[in-house]
Amino acid sequence: MSEEKSLNFIEEIIEADLASGKHASILTRFPPEPNGYLHIGHAKSICLNFGVAKKYGGKTNLRFDDTNPVTEDTEYVESIKKDIQWLGFQWANEFYASDYFDQLFEMALQLIGKELAYVDDSTSEEIAEQKGTPTQPGNRNQYASRTAAENRQLFLDMKAGKYADGAKVLRVKIDMASPNMLLRDPIIYRIKHAHHHRTGDKWCVYPMYDFAHGQSDSIEKITHSLCSLEFVPHRPLYDWCIEQLGTFPSKQYEFARLNMTYTVMSKRKLLQLVNEKLVNGWDDPRMSTISGMRRRGYPASSIREFCDRIGVAKRENLIDVGLLEFCVREELNKTAQRRMVVFDPLKIVITNYDKGVEMLTSENNPEDEQGGTREVPFSREIYIERDDFMETAPKKYFRLTPGQMVRLKSAYIIQCEEVIKDASGRITEVHCTYIPESRSGSDTSGINVKGTLHWVSAQHAIHAEVRLYDRLFKIEDVGNAEGDFKEHINPDSLQVIHHAYAEPALGRDAQDLAFQFLRKGYFVLDQDTTADKLVFNRTVTLKDAWAREVRKS
Ligand code: ATP
Ligand code: MG
Repeated sequence: MSEEKSLNFIEEIIEADLASGKHASILTRFPPEPNGYLHIGHAKSICLNFGVAKKYGGKTNLRFDDTNPVTEDTEYVESIKKDIQWLGFQWANEFYASDYFDQLFEMALQLIGKELAYVDDSTSEEIAEQKGTPTQPGNRNQYASRTAAENRQLFLDMKAGKYADGAKVLRVKIDMASPNMLLRDPIIYRIKHAHHHRTGDKWCVYPMYDFAHGQSDSIEKITHSLCSLEFVPHRPLYDWCIEQLGTFPSKQYEFARLNMTYTVMSKRKLLQLVNEKLVNGWDDPRMSTISGMRRRGYPASSIREFCDRIGVAKRENLIDVGLLEFCVREELNKTAQRRMVVFDPLKIVITNYDKGVEMLTSENNPEDEQGGTREVPFSREIYIERDDFMETAPKKYFRLTPGQMVRLKSAYIIQCEEVIKDASGRITEVHCTYIPESRSGSDTSGINVKGTLHWVSAQHAIHAEVRLYDRLFKIEDVGNAEGDFKEHINPDSLQVIHHAYAEPALGRDAQDLAFQFLRKGYFVLDQDTTADKLVFNRTVTLKDAWAREVRKS
């Protein structure tokens, strides 16, 4: 976060709290529910929670909100930890809401003792009906008048497993006429005979989110509990519980969730894509998950930069995914090593070249003085892209065509002499000659050409599979689309080039490096790579093709 930038509203609150002495230091938390992989929306929350704590010398806890035993899994816990660390953040403590089940149960007993909570035997339908509507007050039923002793025994019996799922709930007694429906005696405990991934079969009663969340904050002495806007109406309950229990006064502040164009961002929807095999797992490079973006080659720093640029707002909006891609490109332009790879080869025979094999030198990254150089073999037969040649070309075609010279990147200027075709008329080879004095770096030919092409020496070329990704959805606002969001999936979101031809340097050092394939985009090695097959993912194109489409139309 740069110093000259103005403070966001969370930072303003924190600075005021530190200045007034309300808090000597700050403690935030990131509270994921381990029911799926983290997505770019979570990255925003992570950058905010860890970012402000870091900025003000405070700390951040990682707390797994594992109060729902049914949907949670340790696979998700591990993936979440990996993603946060990869984003560049380290938590002060790793906690689980389930660690507090005993304390939370005790707190519920305290509320019962203060006649502020009661066991209700009503069905969920009855409870809903008695709640009234936003314009009509609700009614308390006969269970609300149970004595504290009675409630205590019933609650202990619930815990002991005497009742079936749904037979009873524990509610807090607040206000059945409140305009805020969440204050109309909300449920804080329910019965669920389910195995929990950490507490096993110890519990058959589980706290509800509102109770567990606020009290977990308070137990950890979280100073600023940052959550998304949908929790605004939950704040009075958050404050009420803390006040009645007299626990540490954590405070909740709400910010706008991230919504992004052409993207879904709810774990429930992402899970559907995975389960219905519409993508190849949570880390499919087209997914909005952090693991998908990592696999696709997005640098963690560009995700942090994106989160910083979008800032923290109090109103929901839809961010252009192009901004994230812009951040990725900016970073990769500075760091990616340049390589030459031909996707759709056309053989060029340089008929006057008789030097065997020559090792040419090419810079790894013109944007990076320390980037160094590599050797690129040149020989009589090379490949260029089929669409870099045209037998009859329009004006302003600066690539290879009869009667026009082009430069081969880091090599020589060539010109077309003869086009060879097979019986069907398909071009199989193009015969060229080269200008010996035109070698890059020591060019004395005096010839100026407009086009520079990438190429690969045929005898040295290595094979690679290249996966080109496009947006997973066809429409901008998938999150708010009518009907089934899956109807908007882009059927062309993955294109596979099975046999690309790459310069040999790519095979030697592909691991852990970002590449720019010249004129093609940014690429990274995929985990599907084996001893005899290199697989690359396109991270992002060189330019924003979609923005150009929009400008054209
Ligand atoms: P989802 O609907 O995707 O499951 P969630 O809010 O239920 O999201 P949690 O695991 O409960 O997911 O969220 C952990 C934290 O991340 C919460 O504080 C939540 O507010 C925040 N978060 C989740 N999605 C977004 C988003 N799109 N933008 C900003 N913060 C988010
Ligand atoms: Mg959730």
